[in-house]
Order: sequence, then structure tokens, then C-alpha cells
Amino acid sequence: TSSTTNLKPLDSSKVKIFPKEVKSTPLPNEKLVFGQTFTDHMLCIEYDAAKGWADPVIKPYGPLSLDPSTCVFHYAFELFEGMKAYRSPDNKITMFRPDKNMERMNKSADRICLPTFDNEELIKLIGKLIEQDKHLVPQGQGYSLYIRPTMIGTSEGLGVHTPDKAMIFVICSPVGPYYKTGFKAVRLEATDYACRAWPGGVGDKKLGANYAPCIKPQLEAASRGYQQNLWLFGPNKNITEVGTMNVFFAFKNEETGKKELVTAPLDGTILEGVTRDSILQLAREKLDPKEWDVNERYTSIYEVEEKASKGLLLEAFGAGTAAVVSPIKEIGWKGNDISVPLLPGEQSGPLSKSIAKWIADIQYGKVQKDNWSKVV
Ligand code: PMP
Repeated sequence: TSSTTNLKPLDSSKVKIFPKEVKSTPLPNEKLVFGQTFTDHMLCIEYDAAKGWADPVIKPYGPLSLDPSTCVFHYAFELFEGMKAYRSPDNKITMFRPDKNMERMNKSADRICLPTFDNEELIKLIGKLIEQDKHLVPQGQGYSLYIRPTMIGTSEGLGVHTPDKAMIFVICSPVGPYYKTGFKAVRLEATDYACRAWPGGVGDKKLGANYAPCIKPQLEAASRGYQQNLWLFGPNKNITEVGTMNVFFAFKNEETGKKELVTAPLDGTILEGVTRDSILQLAREKLDPKEWDVNERYTSIYEVEEKASKGLLLEAFGAGTAAVVSPIKEIGWKGNDISVPLLPGEQSGPLSKSIAKWIADIQYGKVQKDNWSKVV
């Protein structure tokens, strides 16, 4: 946002730490509610277009004080990330693919004229923040530390323009499994009267402004007994995402009998999910290519409806950091429910179950994969 060359880059070695006087005691695992309690400290880094990034600060968690004219409140100069750190059985704490989140965070920042930063430096700083509160990272399958990096424009004064001040802050919430008793398959309402994202829009960026408008359609779906929206786009009613997750379908080919795992292509209307990317990579490595095709392609609600009617719809699931894999059991569409098969007496299909295990084994350090786990 500035052509000056002597702007200070983000520098993790300059961090100043102001520890909280008394450390809090961890809640018992069963009391952890997603995003409701936070660790003792937060990371704050201020940016000034004339100077660059100030020295990062780790300080006790607490309120921000901002002038009411600050641009974040008026023009939605805000973006965020969602990622997790896990404690392995041998007590190592690792972040899962933080490089992917930093990459996406920088793309979001660039799109709304907020400052970009060095990925590695913010990863190191988040590591130091976690280190500060490492007694609050829960242990146990399904438990983790949810990390919420955020950037806001902090310029004061009304008027729509490039913010000349910004701030990154990072807060952390110890969380339990999304579904307390293993999987709980969800019912979705295929939604074509409202639209989450569109070509040329910003649906592929993690901007706060993308989220508030999705609540009303979700409430409408809920009033008819569905937990989430299955977002459709365009005249072909292409399937894009589900709620705040990417979505996958498993089909069987009518002629060849071969199975296919499908998710929407990254065409600018789809959030570039880290879980989506991880599932695609693992599926391409682990599924027998004689038995499975793994495709990023458009699929429509009409195709899903038709495949289901012929017994060729095998599975459907959402994929995202919070729930990792979220099996789907029914899709409401034009007054009918399309049923998705589940294993007898279970809440998921066999592929969803395998994928969830592949990912959990890497997250909890049972299996090493490339550099997906970054030790804190
Ligand atoms: N789509 C949307 C709209 C989301 O908000 C999220 C959550 N970040 C995802 C997909 C899943 O992305 P990820 O796997 O990186 O959590």
C-alpha cells in the first residue's frame, strides 16, 4: 500500500511479552465450548503505512479500545483466519498447516488493501503466543486449540479509502470435538434464493463481510429443520459450499461402476479450505486409482438428485477446520429430501470415516506428513 522502501517488516524477534500475573487453570475437557473461552494472552501487532509493522506485543487477553470512527466499524476492513494447534500423546504441540492459513490471510489482506506480511514471522509469533499459554492446550482425541488470527483497518475518520493504519490480533480458544459423541450427520437445505458468493466477488477470501449476510438464510433453513445451507450458484444450480465448510460428494459411475470423489473447483467463488486441500491430497495418495477418481469439478443439485434416485450417491460431507469432516444425511431441495446413505447404525459413510481418521492421525502426531505439522 506504500512505495516507501524503509517500512519496517514484521519481525518476530522484536516481540515484547507482558505476562499475565496469575495463570488461569484449564477447564476440564467436558466444559470446553467452541469459541467461548480464551487463553490468557493475545498477540497484537500495529501497522502504520508511514512506518511499517511495529514491534509485536503479547499481553493479557482483553478489550480493544478504538475510536468510533475507525474504518473497521463502517466499511468492514476486517479479515480473519481459523486454524488449530494439537497436543500429541507425547505432549508435543503442533500447528496444522499454518503456512496455508498465512497464505490465505495475505490474499485476504491484499484484496481489501490491508497490509501484507511475512508468513513465517506471523507463524513464529503465533508459536510464541501458544507457548505462553501452553498449559491451556487441551489433550485428548478431538480436543485442540482453535487459533483466530484477525486483521482490522484502524484508520480513524469517515470516508472510504485505503486504511493507513491496521492491526493484527490473534486470540486462542481451547476447544473440544465439534460433535461430542462422534459424528452427527447433518441435514442441509439446498439454497438458491440467496447467494453466498459470485464470480468477480470475494467469496474466496476470508473477509468478515462474507459471513454476516449468511445468517438470515441459515435461520430460514433452521426454521424448516435444516442445520445448514447448501449454497447453490447459477442457472445450473451448481453446488458450491455448505454453511462455512467446503463440500464433497462420493458418486458411483453408472456405466463403469467406478467411484468418484468430487468437490467444487477453486473458481473464485469457493473458499480455499485447508481441510479441502488436505483431503484432496490424501485421497489422491491413498485411494486406489483403479477404484476411485478424485475430481475438482462442478456438480449440481440436479446431478446429486438424479444420482441419489439411481442409488449412485454414496456419501456427502462438509470439510473445514472446526468439524474437520461433517457427514451429511439429507438435503432438502424443492420440498423433497434427498437421502444420503450412512453406514448401518452409524452417522457417516465409510469414506468420510476413513478421511477423518487420516487427518486426525496427522494432526495428533501419529503419522508424519510432509511439513503439515509445525512444532510450536
Ligand atoms: N468455506 C468457508 C466459507 C469457510 O468459512 C471455511 C472455514 N474457514 C471453510 C470453507 C473451510 O476452510 P478450512 O478448511 O480452511 O477451515
